[in-house]
Amino acid sequence: MTHRNDDAPHRLAEELAQSVTGPVLRPEDTGYARESAGFQLGLRHRPELVIGARTATDVWTVLRRAAAYGLPVTVHNTGHGMRAGAERGVLLTLRRLNAVTVDPVAATARVGGGATWDDVIVAAAPHGLVPPSGSLGTVGAVGYTFGGGLGLLARPDGWACDHVRSYTVVTGDGEEREVGPGDGERFARLRGSGPVPGEVVTEMTVGLLPEGPLQGGGLTFDLGTTDAPGDPALLHTFHEWTLGLPAELTSALRVMAFPDLDFLPPHLRGRRIARVAIALRGSAEDAERLVAPLRKAAPPVEDTLAPMRFAEYARVHAEPADAGAFIGENLLVDTLAPSALDSLAGLGGPGLVIVNVRHLGGALARPARVPDTVAGRDARYLVAAISQVDPDLSVPKSVPKSVPKSVPKSVPKSLPNPAEARTQAGPAGWLEPFAPARVGVSPGFRMGPGTA
Ligand SMILES: Cc1cc2nc3c(=O)[nH]c(=O)nc-3n(C[C@H](O)[C@H](O)[C@H](O)COP(=O)(O)OP(=O)(O)OC[C@H]3O[C@@H](n4cnc5c(N)ncnc54)[C@H](O)[C@@H]3O)c2cc1C
Repeated sequence: MTHRNDDAPHRLAEELAQSVTGPVLRPEDTGYARESAGFQLGLRHRPELVIGARTATDVWTVLRRAAAYGLPVTVHNTGHGMRAGAERGVLLTLRRLNAVTVDPVAATARVGGGATWDDVIVAAAPHGLVPPSGSLGTVGAVGYTFGGGLGLLARPDGWACDHVRSYTVVTGDGEEREVGPGDGERFARLRGSGPVPGEVVTEMTVGLLPEGPLQGGGLTFDLGTTDAPGDPALLHTFHEWTLGLPAELTSALRVMAFPDLDFLPPHLRGRRIARVAIALRGSAEDAERLVAPLRKAAPPVEDTLAPMRFAEYARVHAEPADAGAFIGENLLVDTLAPSALDSLAGLGGPGLVIVNVRHLGGALARPARVPDTVAGRDARYLVAAISQVDPDLSVPKSVPKSVPKSVPKSVPKSLPNPAEARTQAGPAGWLEPFAPARVGVSPGFRMGPGTA
């Protein structure tokens, strides 16, 4: 076994500067901070060495040589799913491995290990094809499939990882091989749980789907002022509405309380808001008919549902694409208890908290044709809570002085206590009312400090 000595990072940097084609950066180098940064600002990578891979050979060289020097390697792409900051060893960044090649006849894409879904969407569009991507195209395509991958059109199309044909995997002991359906447990583990330390996916082959006619957008409803508990009626309507929907329609309910701040549009300032995101494989007439019960339940303050191209995916979830400091926790549940929806209408607190309820079922409930480790085939909803945290408190490590009063103190056993999660308004507490219906947790929606 190789043991490191103190100048190992320095010697490895000198060696790799001659052999890898991407940047090799020490903490004192210009570009080090930029190369190690990502979407999650509540955590920071501070390794002894950062190396940007440009080719699969770079990945292979870095893994092999770091192992020889006894240095651990942390893999970093966009940082959307970051759970801990690397404090030592090597950070291997993948964003330059972003090539995408589409085979329109086979309806597949060869996707680089660092490509984002936007890269794939752009490459597939000229062929009338779309990938099984989700709410935000800046997320890494390969990393997203490790959690199963809950797409914009998840109910008609199924889990993204159902469409993965193979991964090209490189490891520290010099192995480079295609891992596919013939690899049993390893292929199953990658699709739903992800790689083990030291395994890097340099390429993935993923199936694409016909774009077809699409309708998408969101209906925003006012639940009342943040000074008082919100009216939960619309949340109950959403629940009942989802019970009768065909698999062609994918929807998600987002609940949040907006502070009374000048820069916000007047209809959001100091208001509790529920927004139903809708994506339909079907016609405008189908959309009108299927969404009518929601429009009838209450007049939306905003209604953006309209025919769309897949490339306009952002209008469905209307999520901010800017980097931030946040913690995300979730529960997979088999029902939405009325009392849980009542408590959701009171969501709020000193920090920004958002709860998303994604409707599952449809093709997501289909048994996997090739075994995988996806959590959620037996769930009807994913309830995901995100809290904004103060990056100054969460980087470097710190513990808040108190948990806000508005967050329930006891939390489900499987979720970290808000205090341990180092947050000012822990998301786990907001999930507690849903916990009796829990059937699992989705690893892809656990993000940020305290979730490692
Ligand atoms: C705003 C936002 C929206 C999201 N929307 C959705 C959604 O709609 N549906 C959904 O299912 N998920 C969604 N997610 C979750 C997202 O899929 C996960 O956070 C995923 O882990 C992000 O992967 P990444 O590569 O972009 O992030 P990173 O943080 O760079 O990587 C996540 C993990 O995967 C590892 N990794 C990444 N690429 C590789 C590789 N090629 N080889 C080996 N290891 C690798 C990294 O080491 C890290 O441990 C969303 C997340 C955010 C923050």
